[in-house]
Amino acid sequence: MSLSRREFLRRNSLTGLSAVLSPGLLAEAVPALAPISKGTSGISTDLAALGGPPLRTKPWPTWPIWNPETDEKRLLEVIRSGVWSRASVVSEFEEKWAATVGAKRCLSVVNGTNALIASLAQFDIQGGDEVLVPAYTFIGTVAPVLAVGAMPIFVDVERDTFQMDPAQIEARITPRTRAIIPVHILGLPSDMTRILPIARKHNLIVIEDACQAHMAEIDHKQVGTLGDAGCFSFQNSKNLAIGEAGAIVSNNDAFMDRCFSYHNYGNPYGTVSGVIGIGTLMQGTKLRLTEYQAAIGLAQLERLDQQTALRNANAAYLKAKIEKIPGILPYRLYDSVTRAAFHLFPFRYEPEAFKGLSREQFLKALTAEGIPCSGGYTPLNKMPFLNDAFESKNYQKIYPKEMINYNSYLENNQCPTNDLLCQEAVWLSQSMLLGSQTDMDDIAHAIEKIHGQADKLVMKK
Ligand SMILES: *Cc1c(COP(=O)(O)O)cnc(C)c1O
Repeated sequence: MSLSRREFLRRNSLTGLSAVLSPGLLAEAVPALAPISKGTSGISTDLAALGGPPLRTKPWPTWPIWNPETDEKRLLEVIRSGVWSRASVVSEFEEKWAATVGAKRCLSVVNGTNALIASLAQFDIQGGDEVLVPAYTFIGTVAPVLAVGAMPIFVDVERDTFQMDPAQIEARITPRTRAIIPVHILGLPSDMTRILPIARKHNLIVIEDACQAHMAEIDHKQVGTLGDAGCFSFQNSKNLAIGEAGAIVSNNDAFMDRCFSYHNYGNPYGTVSGVIGIGTLMQGTKLRLTEYQAAIGLAQLERLDQQTALRNANAAYLKAKIEKIPGILPYRLYDSVTRAAFHLFPFRYEPEAFKGLSREQFLKALTAEGIPCSGGYTPLNKMPFLNDAFESKNYQKIYPKEMINYNSYLENNQCPTNDLLCQEAVWLSQSMLLGSQTDMDDIAHAIEKIHGQADKLVMKK
């Protein structure tokens, strides 16, 4: 082998190491490339964004995970039984999810969005009511508030935790405020220790949006069980993936009975009861899960605890490595957090420490090195869907003019910290955290590589 190291890396970056080299050749070539096998290689090669070899070409763990041997038996049984609508497998999934999170009751529904809609509706949150939501979240938190005709009010967030800032909640409370939706965003628990007393003081319903936070804990109690109700999503990307599905958990029997009735057209259930034969009792809709979705959920649930442990271990390892790099500021967890879910691994990026390299260029450069990443959310509190709701017939009829004046709404819902956070966040996905420690090393080395040569990318621009 007379290839120079640079030439070797260049060629292999194009075709992939295993494709060019037979196992025999690989064994021969590796000793000459010692840094590669130590996992610290590639830091000083040219940046992939400038035509150099990517630091990593190995694929990342894929998502969702499906093991035909262990997972398919139950699913096939369901399909072959012909019982596809809600029956015993859905009930079993609900019992297991309630037991997993430590809640008295669980109701499965079609998705996390509708888990939130049902919860808001069954706590009687309607037109004219205000609901506090954090600015740093997914549209799936806010759309349900509008769906029940209520008014979302945005609370600014903390820059280092990415969560709703408890210190800013009270300034947003008015006589119309009925509920608060703390969101355990990115799978990092929100500061419930401070939020719950504020909610109690102002008599607010607390609906936790735990759609990204399966099995995350505060003081050894799982999120979703700390407020009046908790909502989960089992959409394909989520830490427990069914494709589309969601759940409501709560210890409040009367509320859960109403949710069940609501998800089944308002037909009698539990304490929602009337004279036999009278028919549908309350307003409802149809949100029922299918048996085959529940069978998939039961299979995924077998792995969730172990996967959550692995994500926590890898996240802690990666955090300790990258927080030493100037300009890389990973998330902070509250002291009360005993476990996170890490639906995403977030850090903030400071261009000043990278010779002024913009976040967009950094994201491109990191992706080019074989580390997929994204910049995350853009501010929801400024998006046109809010004005669309305000211009609807229902909002025009229900709300006084000053409450649905879009310009004053924008003015009253400013969240300057969230604006900054949306410009500086960098996310890595939960499935990357299911890799090995060497995979985490690759992430850190790729960031170090860009940090070391940022001037070249800035010059290119
Ligand atoms: C995914 C998600 C939702 C909505 O859940 P779906 O199952 O996709 O409807 C709501 N809130 C947050 C924070 C989410 O991440």
